[in-house]
Amino acid sequence: MERTLVLIKPDAVQRGLIGEIILRLERRGLKLIAAKFLQVNQELAETHYAVHKGKPFYEGLVRYITSSPVMAMVWEGPNAIAAVRQTMGATRPTEAAPGTIRHDFALEVGRNLTHASDSPETAAQEIALWFKPEELYPWDRATDAWIMGQN
Ligand code: GDP
Ligand code: MG
Repeated sequence: MERTLVLIKPDAVQRGLIGEIILRLERRGLKLIAAKFLQVNQELAETHYAVHKGKPFYEGLVRYITSSPVMAMVWEGPNAIAAVRQTMGATRPTEAAPGTIRHDFALEVGRNLTHASDSPETAAQEIALWFKPEELYPWDRATDAWIMGQN
C-alpha cells in the first residue's frame, strides 16, 4: 500500500477543476485520507520545490504555486504513486496521453494543474511537509475488497 501527496494547483482551483480532478482519482479506486484547502506561503513553496531551485522556471513556479489557493490531499492505494502520476499525465501537457488530466485540461507546462509525488521517498517527505500526522485519516472503505482484493 502506498500514499502520495497530490496538489490541485492554483490554475485548477481558479478554473473550477477541483471536482473533476478528485472525481478521476476517486473513480480510479484511490482512497482519500487527508485534504486541506490553503494559500501556500513562500516558505512552504520553496521547501516543496527545493529540488528545482536554480532551474530557469523556479522563480515562476514559486510565484505560480503561491498565487492563489491550492487543494492539498493525500491519496492511498496499491501503487498509488505511479497510478496518480499516470492519471495526471506527463509534465508537459502536449506530451500527456489522451484521457489524462493534463492532456484533457491543460496546454502549458507552467499551468499544468496538478502535483503528485514521484517516488516513495518524496511521497514520505512531501506528506510530512504538508500534513501533521494527526491530519491523516486512514479509514476502512466498504469497497476495499473489490478494489484491492487479490483473488
Ligand atoms: P511534475 O513532477 O510532473 O510536476 O514535474 P517536475 O517535478 O519536473 O516539475 C515541477 C513543476 O514545475 C511542473 O509540474 C511544472 O509546473 C513546472 N515546470 C517543470 N518544467 C518546466 C518548464 O520547463 N517550464 C515551466 N514554466 N515550468 C516547468
Ligand atoms: Mg515533480
